[in-house]
Formats: sequence, C-alpha cells, structure tokens
Amino acid sequence: MILENIEQVKKNITTACQKVGRDPAQVTLIAVSKTKPYTAIAEALPSGILDYGENKVQELVEKYERLPSDIRWHMIGHLQRNKVKYLVGKTSLIHSVDSYRLAEQIEKEFAKENKIAEILIEINMAEEESKFGIPANEAEWLIEKISLLEHIRIKGLMTIAPYTEDPEENRKYFRKMKKLSVDIAAKNIYNVSMDVLSMGMTGDYQVAIEEGATMVRVGTGIFGERNYNT
Ligand SMILES: *Cc1c(COP(=O)(O)O)cnc(C)c1O
Repeated sequence: MILENIEQVKKNITTACQKVGRDPAQVTLIAVSKTKPYTAIAEALPSGILDYGENKVQELVEKYERLPSDIRWHMIGHLQRNKVKYLVGKTSLIHSVDSYRLAEQIEKEFAKENKIAEILIEINMAEEESKFGIPANEAEWLIEKISLLEHIRIKGLMTIAPYTEDPEENRKYFRKMKKLSVDIAAKNIYNVSMDVLSMGMTGDYQVAIEEGATMVRVGTGIFGERNYNT
C-alpha cells in the first residue's frame, strides 16, 4: 500500500510540474512519517525516497537510530529550545525556525559539535492564531539577524497553509510565499539562500508545486491516516 501511494504521489507531482513547465527533479518529496512506526519507513525505502519528516525530536531520534544512515531527517514540527541538543548531527534540515531565541540555541548546540545547521524560516502566511511561524513582514528582519550566526545556514522558507477542503483556497498563500522568497533572495544577504520553498501537504501539494514549492511534505497521502490515540 505504501509503495503504491508513493507512486501515485510521484505521478501527481510530475503532472503538477508539467502543468506549469517545471522539472519534477526540482521538487523533493518528503514523506512525513510522524506517529508511524519505523517499520513503515522501512516499507517505503524501496521507493528510493530518502527524505522523511518528523515533528517530534524524540521520535526522530528513535527512528534515526533504527534506520539506514543515508536517510535525510527533516524536523518539521515546532521545536523546543531544550530539545535542540538531541538533533545535532541527526537532522539534515530544520524547517520550523521562527524566533531568534531558537536560532541562538541551535547556534550554541551545533557550535559545540562544530557542525552547521541548515534551517528554514517558518512563515505564518495566513496569520492563523493557532499556528507557529512569523508574519511575512518580520521575515527579512529575522533572517538578517540569524544570518550572522556562524553555525547556521538559512536555506529558504517554510509554511503550513490552513486546513481546507479546497486546495485552491491556499493558492494565494503559496503565491505570497514564492514572492516573499524572491524578494528576500534579491537582498543578497550574506550566508542566506532562498533555494528551498517547503510548502504543500497531502491536501494541497499540487497547488503548492504550481506556485513554486521545491519541497512538499506528504504524510497521510503516503502512510494513511494517523491515529493519535494509540
Ligand atoms: C503532519 C505534517 C505534514 C503532513 O501532513 P499530511 O496532511 O498528513 O500530509 C506536513 N507538514 C507538517 C509541518 C506536518 O506537521
């Protein structure tokens, strides 16, 4: 089932790319394995997917320890400062940096091990109260400040669009994300690249790709519904 789902998602990615003349190789599929056992990832590996997303540090570390070392682990959930130390050397990209205090903690822990943390800045584009992330108009200020930290490289932006039945409703947010990313890239801030645009989940990744996503985070569409009660 998991491998069939992945094939379907890959096809949908290709179709979305073709619609707007993009190369599917520019879009990285992150399989969001949160709440699922490590065996689900083992089942997915023959597909060739090596990018997996987790939203809890402990779960990421447990799976990291059980699975092949060439897997790239993406920390996509809200990150508490006291958990940062467990991620050093285990995560390839932290998608959810939304404060200078968190960035400072990342700097401190990665510096101890002489490692560089690659991060994205999380934007709350729809300004939903329930969501983490910073408002778009604070992005440039925060990025300039974080760019001075020696053990951090900003690679781009991430957003979690609102939950909706109709993915078209999120197109405007994805479009604004792309524009923000282009605007920040144009500032040529030292040590900052805007290559990554992480947006789009099971319900809306095709629309996100049409608007320029370079990473999509798909959980349910690959691993099935999550059960939070077990
Ligand atoms: C859970 C989660 C996803 C995947 O959501 P699905 O709707 O299951 O595809 C993507 N991004 C983040 C940040 C998540 O927490």
